[in-house]
Amino acid sequence: MIKIGIGYDLHRLEPGRTLFLGGVEIPHPRGLAGHSDGDCLIHAVIDALLGAEGETDIGRLFPDTDPATEGVRSTMLLGEVVNRLRRKGFRVVHVDVVVVAEHPKLGPHFSRMKEELAPLLGVDGAGLGLKAKTNEGVGLVGREEAVACWAVALIEKTRRRNPDPAKT
Ligand code: MG
Repeated sequence: MIKIGIGYDLHRLEPGRTLFLGGVEIPHPRGLAGHSDGDCLIHAVIDALLGAEGETDIGRLFPDTDPATEGVRSTMLLGEVVNRLRRKGFRVVHVDVVVVAEHPKLGPHFSRMKEELAPLLGVDGAGLGLKAKTNEGVGLVGREEAVACWAVALIEKTRRRNPDPAKT
């Protein structure tokens, strides 16, 4: 059984925050606001995976009122979501991402993002698509007030529920 999901997220850029995007730290005068590290790329991927699972969304799974996830790296949240899928007998087949940011240029950071995210997803480098767009100076993203991200995820049921994800 093959299932597909879509995810979207947008976070504001604020001074005094470290910019985390795609699981990596990127030198920039501003970072993404958020309860966690603000990594909206990973949040969009998580929502795509949860959507494919036919379940909840990131806000219900990791409420922004939970002190336990305050300042947490989103890579950790992604790892939890992938393990949750594995326990249900799914594997991630492919994830594709469009990130929209006026600045900084993200293409030079894609190889590091892949090194970080592909192992977490359990795919090889070709199993993760990353594309960057600007918003042509238009709107919140164009004015460099925010970064937006869309993601789609394809997952496949490979076996019945697996209570021990370490054995996948
Ligand atoms: Mg978010």
